[in-house]
Amino acid sequence: MSSSRQSGSSLTPQKRPVVGAHRAARGEETALARTRRARRINRTLAVAYPDAHAELDFRTPLELLVATVLSAQTTDVRVNQVTPRLFATYPTAAAYARANRAELEEIIRPTGFYRAKAGHLIGLGTQLEQRFDGVVPRALEDLISLPGVGRKTAHVVRGNAFDLPGLTVDTHFQRLVHRWRLTAEKDPVAIERDLAEIIEKKEWTLFSHRVIWHGRRVCHAKSPACGVCMIAADCPAYGESGPTEPAAAAKRVTSPDRRHLLDMAGWEA
Ligand code: SF4
Repeated sequence: MSSSRQSGSSLTPQKRPVVGAHRAARGEETALARTRRARRINRTLAVAYPDAHAELDFRTPLELLVATVLSAQTTDVRVNQVTPRLFATYPTAAAYARANRAELEEIIRPTGFYRAKAGHLIGLGTQLEQRFDGVVPRALEDLISLPGVGRKTAHVVRGNAFDLPGLTVDTHFQRLVHRWRLTAEKDPVAIERDLAEIIEKKEWTLFSHRVIWHGRRVCHAKSPACGVCMIAADCPAYGESGPTEPAAAAKRVTSPDRRHLLDMAGWEA
C-alpha cells in the first residue's frame, strides 16, 4: 500500500525523533498544541487502521452487550469462540432471565470468571425484561444501571450498536493516552472527560478503536515497537520503553496488516 504517503507524520529515517526531546515529554507543550497533536495522531491512526472496529462478533445490541460483558479479563477471540452457541441458545433477554445456570456456566466457561459472568447475564436478562421490555436501552445511565455493565461496556454498546459517539477507556486506551501525555488522570471517568475535550465528538468511537488496535499491534504494554511506529514523531514516549532500532522494533509487529504498518513507518526490510 502507498498509505505512508498519505500520513503527515510517517517515520522516515530523516524524521526519526530524538528520545525524550518531544516538547510534551519536557512539559513544554501548550494546550492548543496538545489538541492539534492528538487530532493528528487520530488522523494518522485512521490511515494505519482503516478497518478499525469492535473485534467482538455480534448482530444485535443484546448480542454485543452480552459479548462485552463476557470480554472482561479475557480476549475478544476467546469470547467469539463461545458466542455462536451462546447466542443460538439464548436469543432474547427473557431467555437469559430463565437460563439454567449450570448450562449457561458450561457454555461461557472458556471466558473465565464464568460463575460471576453467568450471574451477570441472568441478572441482565431479568433487568432488561422487568425494566426495558426486553430491549437494550441506549442511555448511558440506563446501561450502567445493568448488572455487569460499566462505562466501558456501555460506550462499546452505544458506539457500535447504536452509532452514538463514545470513548472506550480500556487498559490499552489508558496506557496509550498516558504515553502520549494527553492526560495525567488515572481514573477512567476523568480520562474520558479529558479526551472528550480534545478529540472531536464524531470521532470518539473510531478514535477508541484505532487507539486500541494500535495498542494491540504496535504500542504493546511491554516493549512497544517504537522504531517502526507511524506516530513516533508525535509521541513523547518514543523510545522510553521500546526499541528505536527499526529492525528490532519490526519483530514486535506480527499482525496480519504488518506490511502496511511497516510501510507507513518507512521500514522496507
Ligand atoms: S510504539 Fe512507541 S512511539 Fe509508538 S505510540 Fe507507543 S510509545 Fe509512542
